[in-house]
Amino acid sequence: MKIAVASGKGGTGKTTVAVNLALSLQDIQLLDCDVEEPNANLFLQKSVDRVEDVSILVPQIDDDLCNCCGDCVAFCQYNALAALPNKVMVFESLCHGCGGCKLVCPEKAITETGRNIGYIEKSSGNGLDFYHGILCIGDAMASPLIQRLKCYADENKTIILDAPPGTACPMITTLKDVDYCILVTEPTPFGLHDLKLAVEVVEKMSIPAGIIINQDAEGYSEVEEFCKSKNIPIILRIPYDRRIAEMYSKGIPFAEELPGWKEKFREMYEQIKRIIE
Ligand code: SF4
Ligand code: SF4
Repeated sequence: MKIAVASGKGGTGKTTVAVNLALSLQDIQLLDCDVEEPNANLFLQKSVDRVEDVSILVPQIDDDLCNCCGDCVAFCQYNALAALPNKVMVFESLCHGCGGCKLVCPEKAITETGRNIGYIEKSSGNGLDFYHGILCIGDAMASPLIQRLKCYADENKTIILDAPPGTACPMITTLKDVDYCILVTEPTPFGLHDLKLAVEVVEKMSIPAGIIINQDAEGYSEVEEFCKSKNIPIILRIPYDRRIAEMYSKGIPFAEELPGWKEKFREMYEQIKRIIE
């Protein structure tokens, strides 16, 4: 079973939820897919080993063979190729490594070369396999790195994917093929605004979803009304609690310290299993 933990925006407690859920269960794999800013291991404090440097294939053009027909430029949807009067320029940092330009070139003028975009690290022990991807600083190719990271998913385990914030390609790449999505939000107008965007994504991808309200407190009921209107269950509420905030600031998973929380996460997990089955 693959469960993604996502949110429409950063800072809602998505990683806190992913880590605390992982630590509450047994035989779990946690993949931190927030490759631009992976921070799950700040809470886990695991010593990690590098398992792979990740590259994508980018085109190299043989100017002697290229007749400047422009087919490759027209094909590339990412503006990674530009036609000059007598040659084609490659902007490697924009290339997604799809390989399409090579296929459409009638002159066989395109070969490919690897460009490093980041690396993957792992650790295991105590019933938790942990992997994260780390994107090279300044690189924009988060999605190919996430795709590669997801190849480490062990189908015999429950897999928790900590998704990148927002609703752009990296979040969608993370959510592809998951069985369930936990959306973490806060009871504020900003939280609701971004939750609506995230719900739109899971609806379009036909992924069953449940909501966790983090920093839950009286006074703003619009998130609940929205969940009701969309028929999306609220599967957990994490209260606005100074002790949880203090533990967060020290990188301590609160389920490890506050009694009863591991049980709550386990109950939520059982609820998710019933929904999926
Ligand atoms: S490999 Fe794909 S993304 Fe990269 S330049 Fe060619 S067509 Fe564009
Ligand atoms: S498709 Fe091939 S021949 Fe045409 S412009 Fe691109 S590299 Fe040159």
